[in-house]
Amino acid sequence: SSDYRNAVVLPRYVRVNTLKTTVKKVIEHFQLEGYVLEESIKVLSDISTRTIRKDFHLPDLLILPPKTDLHDHPLYLSGEIILQDKASCFPAYICSPQIDSHVIDACAAPGNKTSHLSAIMKNTGKIWAFDLDKKRLKLLEKLTQKAGCKNIEAVHGSFLDVDPLDERYSKVEYILLDPSCSGSGIVNRLDKLVDAFEQETDQSDTSQNSQDLRLKNLSEFQEKIILHAFKFPSAKRIVYSTCSIHPQENEQVIQRVLKQTETFLLANRNDVVPTWDRRGISSEFNDEETAVKLIRTLPEDFMNGFFVACFIRVSENETRKK
Ligand code: SAM
Repeated sequence: SSDYRNAVVLPRYVRVNTLKTTVKKVIEHFQLEGYVLEESIKVLSDISTRTIRKDFHLPDLLILPPKTDLHDHPLYLSGEIILQDKASCFPAYICSPQIDSHVIDACAAPGNKTSHLSAIMKNTGKIWAFDLDKKRLKLLEKLTQKAGCKNIEAVHGSFLDVDPLDERYSKVEYILLDPSCSGSGIVNRLDKLVDAFEQETDQSDTSQNSQDLRLKNLSEFQEKIILHAFKFPSAKRIVYSTCSIHPQENEQVIQRVLKQTETFLLANRNDVVPTWDRRGISSEFNDEETAVKLIRTLPEDFMNGFFVACFIRVSENETRKK
């Protein structure tokens, strides 16, 4: 477990907000502050002080040393950079909505993935950002405004109550699903990790049962959210993510929904960040092909634990290849 603890000192990831600036300009800004630009590397090891590098897998993402505090940095205050862990940059990048498209961000607040979608769309088209929590949705409005997003409509309410056949959403092709989860992958603060360790070692039978029940309830909700997204008539690319490391909220949810759809299947590995090596847990499936289409991240990859799956619609003139 000492490796796990060491890995918790995560680098400072910086997502460049391409609605306001460019990767080149941000790098130049940090170089003027004495940061040295290093080559991107696939597997991070020790990151020396005052270095900056582009991420190997995701565009518009920069890596600075752990503990770099940028909360007072001018580029952060102006909304030109967004402080966002690498793992949480996978979903919008994988969704990759086209210019002028219509998009739903179903569980959107506080909106880091919404502003990422908006940047990928270059502020064109339209994003409906739903959230059940009014306060968090207010924060989304504030943060996406700071980021210069102009194509977002924040809507208070449950995504499960949204009518998929409503004319307004008839052209929605992309849906991002980032529902509430156990958060068991989030370990970017040492104190939190120590808590998690203590809880695990102290766990009595009762707390094990309540943990199981909690995961069961969450996974039922997550399943419902995905099945609801499948009902949108023009949806062609649906990305599901959690910051959980539990198979119950990840592979097992995917397995259940796949059994209930004829119209959606998982996108192939080559369409889902093929250069990323850590894929789904294969022992959760009966075949060899499914798990490689899924993405997992762990703290030992120098980021939070995350899970991402990408569904695509089986096109009508294409025979369904399993
Ligand atoms: N996508 C967000 C981001 O990147 O900033 C984080 C989303 S957080 C993991 C999950 C969110 O789902 C919470 O804000 C919660 O209020 C919201 N939520 C829970 N149930 C919901 C529902 N039925 N409909 C819409 N939002 C819901």
